[in-house]
Amino acid sequence: MKWEENIRQVVPYVPGEQPDRPGMVKLNTNECPYPPAPGVKKALEEFDHTELRLYPDPDASILTEALADYYKVKKEQVFVGVGSDDVLAIAFMTFFNGGRPILFPDITYSFYDVWAGLYRIPYKEIPLREDFSIAPGDYHIENGGIIFPNPNAPTGILENLEMIEDIVSANPDVVVIVDEAYIDFGGESALPLLNKYDNLLVVQTFSKSRAMAGMRIGFAIGNKKLISYMNDVKFSFNSYTMDRITQRLGAAAVKDEVYFRETLAKIIKTREWAKEKLSELGFVFGDSKSNFIFASHKEKRAEEIFSYLRSKDIFVRYFKKPRIDNYLRISIGTDEEMRTLVRELTAFLGRRNEVE
Ligand code: PMP
Repeated sequence: MKWEENIRQVVPYVPGEQPDRPGMVKLNTNECPYPPAPGVKKALEEFDHTELRLYPDPDASILTEALADYYKVKKEQVFVGVGSDDVLAIAFMTFFNGGRPILFPDITYSFYDVWAGLYRIPYKEIPLREDFSIAPGDYHIENGGIIFPNPNAPTGILENLEMIEDIVSANPDVVVIVDEAYIDFGGESALPLLNKYDNLLVVQTFSKSRAMAGMRIGFAIGNKKLISYMNDVKFSFNSYTMDRITQRLGAAAVKDEVYFRETLAKIIKTREWAKEKLSELGFVFGDSKSNFIFASHKEKRAEEIFSYLRSKDIFVRYFKKPRIDNYLRISIGTDEEMRTLVRELTAFLGRRNEVE
């Protein structure tokens, strides 16, 4: 068909499935196993539905101001979007127009090559080292921009700030995006580097550490100029992206610091317990600083374990891709969910039940 010649054909991102089965253990999309902060519930209950006849504030000021306050930056340094996927998509469109290939790791968030494809941005995948760490020297080449998550996904491996500074300082002529979707689970944010580098953009999300994946909130912090360019693109696309309820509930979440810290501490404790148990069961993995563990088993193939767990309504993530096709990405759930996982793994691997 002739009309097909004019179509923007893309290979879309494949999100983790969202099964809805009674009693299932859902450890496949790195959601938070605990509810959002009590302040969020209160804000939802107090929301006056008649407000919905009005458009939302296109600047989402209530939320950008709450974030600016929390991270001690100016309001003009904050950009909010409908999930960090939205923020990242706009950042790709805004910053990666140089014609030279952008760089990101070969094993990383699988949306980066999709956006590059969508926007026709050339890209080069830089192999991670054998232990899945980033070799910063590999990013000292000509490029049109750089993006990587820290901790990386799906590996969970955290890089230190020196490594990040090395990459940012070696590339002053392009924008470097650090995708910190999982930084709250034990990493050190690159935000302090913003005082030194105007080519750095830090992106975070409410979907993991703030337990609001269903609400869709992400944000970027950078220098005013970067943020204003992102706003120009956003306002050339769709001005009213974030609805009234989301703005209000997002701001409430940021203000509930105590609950936030408690939730993180619980998840980190469970993660460390799960590491011990998985290791006893014969799994090997790097030292994850995120809310998931990326593990391979010494004897059994990951795909086989994945299918077994699925048959028991335990959902984890398996990527059939080069270098990682023998790994499972297991999100950290509640203690009870993780005990169920360990119990089923123990049964499958034919080991003595050491959980109870
Ligand atoms: N970056 C990374 C590294 C992720 O793993 C995810 C979660 N899929 C996102 C960004 C997007 O998260 P969200 O759109 O829910 O903020």
